[in-house]
Amino acid sequence: MLRGPAILLLATLAACAPLPSGQGRGALWQPSPNFDQRRPNFVILHQTSNDNVATALATLTDPQRRVSAHYLIGRDGAVMQLVDEASRAWHAGESWWGGNTDLNSASIGIELDNTGDEAFAEAQIVALLALLEELRGRYRIPSANFLAHGDIAPTRKVDPGRLFPWQRLARHGFGLWCETPPAAAPAGLDAMLGLQALGYDIAAPAAARQAFRRHFTGTEADAELAPGEQALLHCLLQTKLLPASRGRTHATEPE
Ligand SMILES: [Zn+2]
Repeated sequence: MLRGPAILLLATLAACAPLPSGQGRGALWQPSPNFDQRRPNFVILHQTSNDNVATALATLTDPQRRVSAHYLIGRDGAVMQLVDEASRAWHAGESWWGGNTDLNSASIGIELDNTGDEAFAEAQIVALLALLEELRGRYRIPSANFLAHGDIAPTRKVDPGRLFPWQRLARHGFGLWCETPPAAAPAGLDAMLGLQALGYDIAAPAAARQAFRRHFTGTEADAELAPGEQALLHCLLQTKLLPASRGRTHATEPE
């Protein structure tokens, strides 16, 4: 039987029992069994800027470097998985897309071994397409949410570079695309607002224009958008906002 000081000690320990992490301050913990793991809703593509996959792998698994990705794909098409898809890999860094400020929490990161100055190897792209197909099947990621690191961090990152085959990916439904020449944009279109509506952070306008061009035209100038580019932007916005292109939530979830 516990007496005096022993009972006091137990009471003190109970009061200090750690709450589950993520518990709201002052909230009463009333656990529900109705939950599962969060699902990523974006895929962010990168290039390693290395000339061999062993160097990239060493960097992405070095605890001192504090960078990673869920997947790394070599030029030969070999796919390595470095982080569980349910965990938050460290690939996006400070980023912004359509108001999302923590893309690491919401995405799968894929590194493609490539220097940035070379065409992406055929076997690598074939392997990437197969992986993207799998991820889309698992998580129902909307087409518009397959993005470049350069898209979500336009002032810091330029990867994957302008040689990345976005048009080919888009033919498989990964990423937005508009075949040229699209219809002319409406007169008076505000190009910066348009870029922001597409998702870009326009705090640094020239960098946003450069990122847009790298992804959708394979060029990298940072000048004002020409009429043809404005038409492209308008077409992409229409594609993104069409109801048919929106992702659907899981049918069995009563949310
Ligand atoms: Zn990157």
